[in-house]
Amino acid sequence: LKIKPDKYQTLLEHYYQYYEKLGEGAFSEVLRGKNVQSGEDVAIKIISKKKLDTSQQQSVFKEVTILRRLDHKNIVSFDNFLEDDNYYYIIQDLCDGGEIFNQIVNLTYFSEDLSRHVICQVAESIRYLHNEVGVVHRDLKPENLLFDPIDFTPSKDFPSKLRKSDDIKSKKDEGEFNYGVGGGCIGTVKLADFGLSKQIWESKTKTPCGTVGYTAPEIVKDERYSKKVDMWALGCVLYTLLCGFPPFYDEKIDELTEKISKGQYEFLRPWWDEISAGAKNCVLNLLCVNSHQRYDINQFFEDPWIKSFLDKLPQDA
Ligand code: ADP
Ligand code: MG
Repeated sequence: LKIKPDKYQTLLEHYYQYYEKLGEGAFSEVLRGKNVQSGEDVAIKIISKKKLDTSQQQSVFKEVTILRRLDHKNIVSFDNFLEDDNYYYIIQDLCDGGEIFNQIVNLTYFSEDLSRHVICQVAESIRYLHNEVGVVHRDLKPENLLFDPIDFTPSKDFPSKLRKSDDIKSKKDEGEFNYGVGGGCIGTVKLADFGLSKQIWESKTKTPCGTVGYTAPEIVKDERYSKKVDMWALGCVLYTLLCGFPPFYDEKIDELTEKISKGQYEFLRPWWDEISAGAKNCVLNLLCVNSHQRYDINQFFEDPWIKSFLDKLPQDA
């Protein structure tokens, strides 16, 4: 009697039990799993080799190389990398709260404090990547921002009032924390998906890779891998957190591209009526078409609306 081999036999051989699907992307599916030996819950990103050409296979290795080097509380931690004839398996710590995107849908929108609470954590991960590692993420979006709910313990001086999102609508910032937690789940925000990320600096010397001296201007100017692309995306995420829908949207991809390239977005009424000038100003400085005028990550943390929030956090939080 022949037992049909399990599709992901390799996982089982390495003591990873796997369960239901948590999410998927263009080339991958992500399953909930467990490291049988340690008992730890994991997320297993499975990439089918059949669907990938050689350069895409290379980018899987790049993703793993970058992931291995990262160590930050707001970035998903890498555990292991396995492969067999058919699949690559990237094993990471599980973020059980799921995508931040679903939290936005649950709440319809976040309160300003909750938006700042989330965006500051995202920004912490970006500050680490840009300033300490020299990596541009390049794919910052709600689907790649996950919640790890375990760490969240509302202390007596941190998030004070938990209100229903309806109550928040009429409430302005009162110098205390207004958290629009209408059934949503709060936790540590973790950045995931380094599939498009790119190493731009040598980490030790903090100099650009290779010699720039002989590079053509069009290549030097190529801003595809500039850190500022993450800052634009940060602006899109912040906008979405504040009002519940993205700044740029169009069914037709040409129209959408046109709007983005011109920076055509609005603080649409009535959704933005109640949102503070400080929040709008922060969004404006991130969604700046001219990348030189756009905030970099250090300027983001100096933004008055952000700074006033961080200043009122307890020091040890
Ligand atoms: P892709 O490159 O295919 O977009 P991602 O790494 O973004 O792959 O993972 C796809 C989806 O799987 C995510 O949007 C999320 O829903 C889920 N996911 C990924 N990593 C984890 C994790 N560590 N914990 C929980 N869910 C995850
Ligand atoms: Mg993704």
